[in-house]
Amino acid sequence: MSSILQHAIRLLAVAERQILGSRSGRSISLPTPDSICAWCHRCGAPRLGVFESENYFERLGCRKCYGVCLARDRTIRLGTYDNRWREAILAVKHGGDRALARELGTLLARQWQQTIVAHSFIADSAVVIPIPMPLARRVERGIDHAREIAVGVSKALGISMARCLEHDAGPVQAMLTRADRQSRAQRIRWKSASKWEFDARLASDRQAFETIFLVDDVLTTGSTAAQACAAIRSRLGAPQIVMLVVATT
Ligand SMILES: [Zn+2]
Repeated sequence: MSSILQHAIRLLAVAERQILGSRSGRSISLPTPDSICAWCHRCGAPRLGVFESENYFERLGCRKCYGVCLARDRTIRLGTYDNRWREAILAVKHGGDRALARELGTLLARQWQQTIVAHSFIADSAVVIPIPMPLARRVERGIDHAREIAVGVSKALGISMARCLEHDAGPVQAMLTRADRQSRAQRIRWKSASKWEFDARLASDRQAFETIFLVDDVLTTGSTAAQACAAIRSRLGAPQIVMLVVATT
């Protein structure tokens, strides 16, 4: 088969996914998100024992993250990467289900709102930023899943979204070992000359944004999140960064 024909077939498949994905409703029903007591709000790891007090857990982290320097300040999640949430993530990622992605974003926003009571801050001046996907992968899949989830978060919280990060193409994350993922070079950068870059509010006062909601589907080693946090802090100084993920592994 000629390469041109193969390319045309791939483009048709992408177009079909985009059309079907935008028109159809949710392809699967979602499980109930975890209780906000189920995980460490600092790193996102499952909460291990009831003997760990609320204060210990909230302020210093859990046994996994205590004393560890994390680029993000908070981690909000819906569940762990088991069959239920995995199915939902794959339906968005490979099934192009945009309605489902928005619903995941809405659930993440609600999960965040529930934790506000437990923490002392409220996002007065905030922006939602999706973890970026390399352009080639976005074209191939026909959907930028983190962006679609971020749209759901943005609408549910009434906070604007900015696609101000970019991601170099690299090997597919799932094909890398844990060690490879941790040793990958910096691939996420602040997108120069993005539309948002010229936002008058940003130009006049970089500290205007006190809280960043960073959105992704899965949190594994945290290396991608750390890169995104570094890119954000390189441009915006030291805002509080809240990581919103559907599931942690
Ligand atoms: Zn922790």
